[in-house]
Amino acid sequence: MLPADSHVHTEWSWDAPTGSMERTCARAIAIGLPAVAFTEHADYTTWKVADDGPDADEDLTALMTPEGTVTPPELDAVGYLECLQRCRDRFPDLRIVSGVELGEPHWHGAAVAAVLSAGQFDRVLGSLHCLPFGQQIYEMPGLYQQRPAEVVIRGYLAEIPRLIEGSDAFSVLAHIDYPLRYWPAAAGPFDPLAFQEEFRHALRAIAGSGRALEINTEGPLHLEIVRWWHEEGGMAITFGSDAHEPDLLARRFRDAIDIAEACGFRPGASPCDPWARI
Ligand SMILES: [Zn+2]
Ligand SMILES: [Zn+2]
Repeated sequence: MLPADSHVHTEWSWDAPTGSMERTCARAIAIGLPAVAFTEHADYTTWKVADDGPDADEDLTALMTPEGTVTPPELDAVGYLECLQRCRDRFPDLRIVSGVELGEPHWHGAAVAAVLSAGQFDRVLGSLHCLPFGQQIYEMPGLYQQRPAEVVIRGYLAEIPRLIEGSDAFSVLAHIDYPLRYWPAAAGPFDPLAFQEEFRHALRAIAGSGRALEINTEGPLHLEIVRWWHEEGGMAITFGSDAHEPDLLARRFRDAIDIAEACGFRPGASPCDPWARI
């Protein structure tokens, strides 16, 4: 049996215009996925958008201020939870878990507390999408335009312990490999071994806090990172496609399951449970 897809976006996420909670549920039934967590974005960081380039994004450009910054629209938690209930009524055979993905929650304690008090969110992900550089905050494409690629990775992994220490609002660290999605081709193939110490340092901080690590299947999958998680004392993992449209639900889960099993993790009693170390 497939594990739950614990990281999915729908039309309730500001950056998922082609998302659909209802069609994602239908897709889950069609592919035999027993459970799905809809973890919509709650992002409060204002960042400076990268200039046009291979990663320029038209939807993002539409949200840009004249100064070139973007502040994402707020999550409509009430509307989202109503939609979730409609889907639970319509798809009684599917386990539908409520959730939210908090961007940089350690920088936005009050806003995070406010959104979490708006309703029941069973799966709360903590994410790092942006980092400061100079006087501005940038997403990954903007950082790679201005800094050597290895400096971006080291800066990202160094911020993870601060994210862990600075917020207890989330139980799962999402996509620790987020910057790898944007790794510039000019920097050559990405080698996780070149950053082993930095990864282990971040993973120790997550493990020490008792939180779970997500295997996110949107980016490249590196078995080494999950092995280091186990070696650094990580107790649990979840699986997340980070799908922003129904067809990408549970993408590459077979590969992620193989990695999790090879690294010493096994399913829990329910498909919604994180996989536990053996
Ligand atoms: Zn994310
Ligand atoms: Zn996401």
